[in-house]
Amino acid sequence: MEVVDIKEIQFERVVREAELLSPLMEFKLAVHQIEFRKDPLTERWCRINMERAKRVKQAKTGESADLTKIVDESKKRCFFCPENLERTTPMFPSYFPADRMKRGTACLFPNLFPFGEFHAVGVFSEDHFLPFESFSTELLYNCFALCVDYFRFVNTRHPEAKYCTLNWNWLPPAAASIIHPHVQILTDHRPTFHVKELIEASEEYRELNGGNYWLDLIGSERGGERWIGETGSVAWMTGFAPQGNREVLAVFSGGVSSLVQLTEHGLRDFCEGLSRVLRGYHEMGVGSFNMGFFSGPNDQNLSDRYLLHAKLVSRPNFEAFYTSDDGFMEKFHGEPIIEARPEDVAERLKIYF
Ligand SMILES: [Zn+2]
Repeated sequence: MEVVDIKEIQFERVVREAELLSPLMEFKLAVHQIEFRKDPLTERWCRINMERAKRVKQAKTGESADLTKIVDESKKRCFFCPENLERTTPMFPSYFPADRMKRGTACLFPNLFPFGEFHAVGVFSEDHFLPFESFSTELLYNCFALCVDYFRFVNTRHPEAKYCTLNWNWLPPAAASIIHPHVQILTDHRPTFHVKELIEASEEYRELNGGNYWLDLIGSERGGERWIGETGSVAWMTGFAPQGNREVLAVFSGGVSSLVQLTEHGLRDFCEGLSRVLRGYHEMGVGSFNMGFFSGPNDQNLSDRYLLHAKLVSRPNFEAFYTSDDGFMEKFHGEPIIEARPEDVAERLKIYF
């Protein structure tokens, strides 16, 4: 690997104290420390109440009874189960290479209610439900490689639609309306608001510092308290100022800035790491999550300033009356309230790497 000059990233945090006479302590003075952290690239803030974060949550193992019941009920009328899929899911128009694209156990078809010009759904397998430990590298790879095939096909025919995203909502608390495991992919003419922000901030960073923020981030975090590990060309860490709980960041360090530029190796490296993170999430008691990719344009390699990356955040567990973690601070103010210290999350996940 070439030797590059790594610039240390500055991680900015401010701690403030909130005082209250707590009923939990016979109305004696309780002081809560709130840590405000700023993302070094986007300058978005988050807030961590260290008292909340310190409350150790016991890992739950096994699926709750509610989930088993909902899985069984939803299976009776599932669009993505093999007995219904061909009858109830849309097909691609005739200029596509197939009605529905297939690879291994994975199947890809248009979204029935798209919110983009090119919006498809990728189903992992014929299994209506898959426990976390079933998401092997191979299972993930088959589906994601199919998604990349789709991106490449759309890119050839519609090169002006050049911003791809690959996203996964796992279970209803993460906004999945269908239990059967699937991902959603889109190719758009313009980047999403956040991808635009990331690319512009990375360009600004390069102008100011002369380097690539993402390589500097990997260099600054490697071996530190938020470092999880590496799978080939993909570096895994928790975010310093996360935008969601238990945020895991995967950066493709091998000179790739867009999903269509991914090599087979790069994608396999990612799937290997993702499979490990999911095992770790499960052991930590996480039952629901979102995953997303942040891809630069297809027609340019921006890897001197911007690298393809993906993120996962945990969501509330699937229970009858769960409390959503998406409240006024997240929806309107863009300053998420974080309950788990990123450093603790990294410590729990690195054992799987
Ligand atoms: Zn199903």
